[in-house]
Amino acid sequence: MKIIKNYINGKVECISSNTLPVHDPSKGEEIAKVVLSSSEDFKAVIDSSKKSQYEWSQTTPLKRSRILSNYKTLIEKNIENLAKTISQEHGKTLDDAKGSVTRGLEVVEFSCGIPHLLKGEFSHNVGTNIDSWSIRQPLGICAGITPFNFPAMVPMWMYPISIACGNSFILKPSEKDPSCAIMLAELFSEAGLPDGVFNIINGDKDVVNMILESNDINSVSFVGSTPVAKFIYENAAKNGKRVQALGGAKNHLVVMPDANIDQAVDGIIGAAYGSAGERCMAVSVAVAVGNIADELQNKIHNNIQNLKVAPWTDNQSDMGPVISKEHKEKIEKYIAEGIREGATLIEDGRNYKIQGYENGYFVGPTLFDNVTKEMKIYQEEIFGPVLCIVRVKNYEEAINLVNSHKFGNGTSVYTSDGEVSRNFTSNVKIGMVGVNVPIPVPMAFHSFGGWKSSLFGDYAMHGEEGVKFYTKLKTVTSRWPKSIKDGPEFVMPTN
Ligand code: NAD
Repeated sequence: MKIIKNYINGKVECISSNTLPVHDPSKGEEIAKVVLSSSEDFKAVIDSSKKSQYEWSQTTPLKRSRILSNYKTLIEKNIENLAKTISQEHGKTLDDAKGSVTRGLEVVEFSCGIPHLLKGEFSHNVGTNIDSWSIRQPLGICAGITPFNFPAMVPMWMYPISIACGNSFILKPSEKDPSCAIMLAELFSEAGLPDGVFNIINGDKDVVNMILESNDINSVSFVGSTPVAKFIYENAAKNGKRVQALGGAKNHLVVMPDANIDQAVDGIIGAAYGSAGERCMAVSVAVAVGNIADELQNKIHNNIQNLKVAPWTDNQSDMGPVISKEHKEKIEKYIAEGIREGATLIEDGRNYKIQGYENGYFVGPTLFDNVTKEMKIYQEEIFGPVLCIVRVKNYEEAINLVNSHKFGNGTSVYTSDGEVSRNFTSNVKIGMVGVNVPIPVPMAFHSFGGWKSSLFGDYAMHGEEGVKFYTKLKTVTSRWPKSIKDGPEFVMPTN
């Protein structure tokens, strides 16, 4: 059986012989094992990162940018293989996997502009014959800990920018679908990245704890569930590291009575059920405002009858399985809980079977109506193909509902009224907002991040926020007097 090891110093290797199984979620079969790294493996990763760090930090931004540019070309050439690997271990459709690699590739493209992004600021004559300038310097060794749902895109929110800024980067991918990370690291080496600048260490929470406790690691970027994000934020900060920790979500899509309902329905279906609802920007709550609710429910219900749930090898598939047996069971428990709480189950995706794939972790599209904010299915992140319709009387009730939820990742409003749209974008307490756009994921040159329990820390990911996160600011004040005969000064210098 294939063993997925670590990528250290440009080589695939590992010392530990402990492993965890990796599954094909479509078949429910074990297809590989991933190493659970030991403290010796971790030491090898740290030694390699330390060795590469200084020289890489001294490599000019233009040279770094050229390596990133080669990397971009190699990812484009290999996108089919990367996507297949993602689909096999994650279960999402091939087109969706390709789309996710492309969104990661856009961060590589953004990082190619690093000479411009690191230009700094200069002020001539801040005092008489005194100049001052600010520069951004690399942090040193940065680490990233990533979730299963985007095994290429989420790591690529982090390491291309960090490495472009002159850091060495250690990635701890999800143990559920770890193969893609090794392929991405191999391609970076092929692009000309010196050994040790990008290392991969596989494992579970034990490796995460080694990262948090290491004195050699300067920053931690995390994406995953909220309880783990909070744990990472608190412990990384306690150990003196810079930290950004992105957590879970419960994204609301508000449909106003004046919205183009067919557009809204299409938006909701793709965003709620695409990737089996396993996206942090998935829409899990449709907020029906006023008298639009019955029509909205009917149209969503009719449309989901036509969704094709199938493995990624079927190119007609709209959505695949969820990641694991345990996760399927957890989603099905939430559905049972929704019924118990009194929500109206319009479509039940439990016990979904596909001929030839009876052991696959499939959950069919599920739709609840008359969900209320007291219910667990409303309050908690289900992270599966389960959509809740909440009915509200008017716009004020809709925005208050969105604002009072503990998560603040993404939201969207469908309306044809510019005033409603402006009010919503100004007053909603959410990090990423769409207007007549179902999944408002910011492009690489903007930044990705939620509010409230969806992000712990001060910086969002990629874009200029990413550059700031992965660099330290230094401000220099300088003069070159012919002779210094001023004597000591005891008051604050002013102009
Ligand atoms: P997870 O929190 O279970 O795991 C994420 C990472 O943390 C993995 O690498 C895992 O090995 C590690 N980990 C897990 N438990 C740990 C523990 N107790 N201590 C230390 N480390 C631990 O998340 P997941 O199930 O892989 O991914 C799904 C979650 O990620 C969802 O909640 C989803 O909303 C969230 N997510 C958020 C965003 C965002 O941008 N906000 C993006 C993608 C996914």
